[in-house]
Amino acid sequence: MLVIENGLVLWGENLDPQKANLIIEEGIIIEKTTRKVHSSHKIDATGCIVSPALVNAHVHIGDAVAMDVGDGKSIAEIVKPPHGLKHQILSNSSSDDLIQAMKKAMMEMLSTGTSTFVDYREGGLAGIKLLQEAGKDIPIHKIILGRDDIFFDNEASLTKVKKVARNLLKYCDGLAPSGFGEIREEVASIIAQECKKQGKISSIHVAEYEDVQDNSVKETGKSEVKRALDCGFKLLIHLNSPVSGDLREVSLKNVPVVSCPRSNGALAVGIPPLLDFQKYKINTLLGTDNLMFNSPNMFREMEYALKLTRGFYKSHFSPADILKMATANAAHALPIDSGFLDEGRLADLMIVKQLSSHPYLSLINRTESKNIICLIIKGNIIY
Ligand SMILES: [Zn+2]
Repeated sequence: MLVIENGLVLWGENLDPQKANLIIEEGIIIEKTTRKVHSSHKIDATGCIVSPALVNAHVHIGDAVAMDVGDGKSIAEIVKPPHGLKHQILSNSSSDDLIQAMKKAMMEMLSTGTSTFVDYREGGLAGIKLLQEAGKDIPIHKIILGRDDIFFDNEASLTKVKKVARNLLKYCDGLAPSGFGEIREEVASIIAQECKKQGKISSIHVAEYEDVQDNSVKETGKSEVKRALDCGFKLLIHLNSPVSGDLREVSLKNVPVVSCPRSNGALAVGIPPLLDFQKYKINTLLGTDNLMFNSPNMFREMEYALKLTRGFYKSHFSPADILKMATANAAHALPIDSGFLDEGRLADLMIVKQLSSHPYLSLINRTESKNIICLIIKGNIIY
């Protein structure tokens, strides 16, 4: 039995700050209490915040082989499959280079309080296996969404695409093509349907910038968002440029959205409309996206998201809501038992020095790796 005592615990889905002690057994939070608990295994969290560990809901860690390459080029030149700069570098990198780069990225996530990440893995089955190999001794939760080059092949038969999708799903947690600019509608539908049949995640990048939405409407009469929802995708990435009706439909279908504001800033494509997402009660998560332009540090993402949103809307945006995007909101969008601290939930948490009187802003504005005194995943002390 592990006891964390005297901390300011951000409790429950609302991250309600309470002075309390937590009792953890076999990886699970079994009790929150104000009474003194006797145990030989205790951590004194006096002066610290006890927060859920962070969830990075959208990342491509393989791209760590190409950090800060291509700055100043257009988004299509840098990331569009199959010939964008990132894809050229990925296919020219050795397995060993990719594994080392991914290991480093996972270690960086642990050092910045992240216990769970959702990776959008290129390279088909071989790509998935590389990440599994890289992460086999690293105690971070990995949710891997695969894709295969056959998804971009306009000549490929749909029977073959279905077969490849089914096979990939045996090895990963879901499928995630890049976007509608690269794949046929029928292929997108197959991906979403096969994931649904197997109870796995289907996700796609949508409405990252205005041009892709305009092209989609011109070519098909529907926005990328509408097409993604009609195909049955269950997790949308970006949605920076909604057109009329998009947000309402996302909200009605209760489909979560992952925002990646630093990535959008780096690529000069837009600003996620987080206040509008909130007005439409869209469950919003945060991700650091491509390692080419961003470190996978969720504290940096949260700070950028908070201040950019206030600057963009010229109004206050709640820091608690930003922290929820990196924690509790993920519990409702992903197959995880963590995301917030409650009795019966997985003990994925961090103990962090409280650096100001405002616990949420202390985390968002001020916390660096050196201020995290302890990271616990599944009840195990990672450091
Ligand atoms: Zn992405």
